[in-house]
Amino acid sequence: MRKIAATYVFTANQPPLKNGILTIGDDGTILSIDSQTNLTEQQSLEYYSGILVPGFVNAHCHLELSHLAGKIEEKTGIGGFVGKINQLRNSANDQPEYRIHQTDRKMWAAGISAVGDISNAAISIETKLNSPIFYYTFIESFGFHPSRAEKAFEYALLVHQQFTNRNLKNSIVPHSPYSVSQPLFEKIARLATENGGILSIHNQESEGEAEFFISGTGSIAKA
Ligand SMILES: [Zn+2]
Repeated sequence: MRKIAATYVFTANQPPLKNGILTIGDDGTILSIDSQTNLTEQQSLEYYSGILVPGFVNAHCHLELSHLAGKIEEKTGIGGFVGKINQLRNSANDQPEYRIHQTDRKMWAAGISAVGDISNAAISIETKLNSPIFYYTFIESFGFHPSRAEKAFEYALLVHQQFTNRNLKNSIVPHSPYSVSQPLFEKIARLATENGGILSIHNQESEGEAEFFISGTGSIAKA
């Protein structure tokens, strides 16, 4: 058991506690949270000058693209970015699985304890199974042409099954409003309604995306 006190403790469900004290069990479980107005030195109480916070949540991650970190020039706009991702994402000689593992370690070291991860394939499963981080995987499906809906959804179902078989929480989600056809949207919606799957979508994250969504023109159309 450990007792840790800090100038402030953020509990996330009430205002920050001044002179907060956490009591932590041997397995890391928080047993109690208290505060003392006049905190004095106590036996076996560790004190930190600063703020204690619960684990951070990374709500939008693409672990699968870890091997592309630093490889894409910045400020080329969304069109340049999408084009470059499409060009580089299958560069297998970059040890993608190892890079995924590394990114997981970096997030844990940075205090992240839960991640919403967008995935197109099953490559991140081993890392997620062996990580102390809680992962929720959004299996991203896309296909602009209605004739692709069946195939795209079948593939997403296959990945969904692989994650589910390993007890990893996941759901099938649409990539963006402009890259998913109506029949594919309907299939995704039906499954989410049936099994209560959480949905996520990339939506107008930049000017270029908004332009493409509204008028079908701009840099994404060219990417
Ligand atoms: Zn994304």
